[in-house]
Amino acid sequence: MAQIYVVGHRNPDTDTVCSAIVFAYLWNKWKETGALSKVMKIEDEAIPAVQGDLNAETKFVLEKFGFKPPQKLTDGAGKKVALVDHSEKSQSLENIDKAEIVAIVDHHKIGDITTPNPILFFNLPAGCTATVLKVLFDKTGIKIPKELAGIMLASILSDTVIFKSATTTELDKKVAEELAKIVGITDLVKFGVEVKGKLSEVHGMSARDIMMRDFKDFVMGGKKVGIGQIELLDLSLIENRKNEIYNELVKKKKAEGYHSVLLMLTDIMKEGTELMVVTDDPKVIEKAFGKKLEGRSIWLAGVMSRKKQVVPPLEKAFS
Ligand code: MG
Ligand code: MG
Ligand code: MG
Repeated sequence: MAQIYVVGHRNPDTDTVCSAIVFAYLWNKWKETGALSKVMKIEDEAIPAVQGDLNAETKFVLEKFGFKPPQKLTDGAGKKVALVDHSEKSQSLENIDKAEIVAIVDHHKIGDITTPNPILFFNLPAGCTATVLKVLFDKTGIKIPKELAGIMLASILSDTVIFKSATTTELDKKVAEELAKIVGITDLVKFGVEVKGKLSEVHGMSARDIMMRDFKDFVMGGKKVGIGQIELLDLSLIENRKNEIYNELVKKKKAEGYHSVLLMLTDIMKEGTELMVVTDDPKVIEKAFGKKLEGRSIWLAGVMSRKKQVVPPLEKAFS
């Protein structure tokens, strides 16, 4: 019997880590109960894995509900894997082409990963992979234990920025309410602020760590573009670190041959993002957002989501 590693994207966030744990659990329940036996055979046991270090928010969430950090996995060669929270090669394991992918559960645009055989592929345009997983639990009649409901709820509050992100759907809210009932949490916003507050703690973090906390690579119009995001309860928390952070963007761009390196400094309470920009072509960034760069950044009111509000206009401008 082989083992299936369930793994999310690089630079793990709370949804990616918790969804790996949750989907591994669900997969093993399917194996045990035969819930999917009419459509597919499940012989292998699943275990969760992560591609990198956990951030402070994720550590808090796992500890709160009594989970250990999953083991690390960075290379997919020769492994059986199930992917959660991504389907882009650039965000996946090294040698993902040499892995056998058995399932993908996601809530992003479909990426460039392909498989030679049909697999379980379940994607919804919801705000969080945990929301999509809840649908799979319900559809296959598997009960969600309290601790799992806890990390799923935390994932939804994290990914949707306490329902403020444009990615939030009615389904995310409905699922969050249902999970909250299982966990016994009544004040969702209070719990959300507790979860998100962990990532607002930037004391003692280097400027590079702040830039890299949630950093993703993209290819747009053939150009290498990196977009990081840091979500803070209040942007003034890093006001005096901006020079340092900007210098890190400049360094990264030069060292790794990017066309553009962007960092979203997202203010959760003000519901907007200061987009810090280092680029070979300011015009293309300005075109994407219909706004002029003021010094080294652009203020984007109402923008909270990289996936919905930053990547699509950039891809359009680059194409
Ligand atoms: Mg994610
Ligand atoms: Mg997600
Ligand atoms: Mg995210």
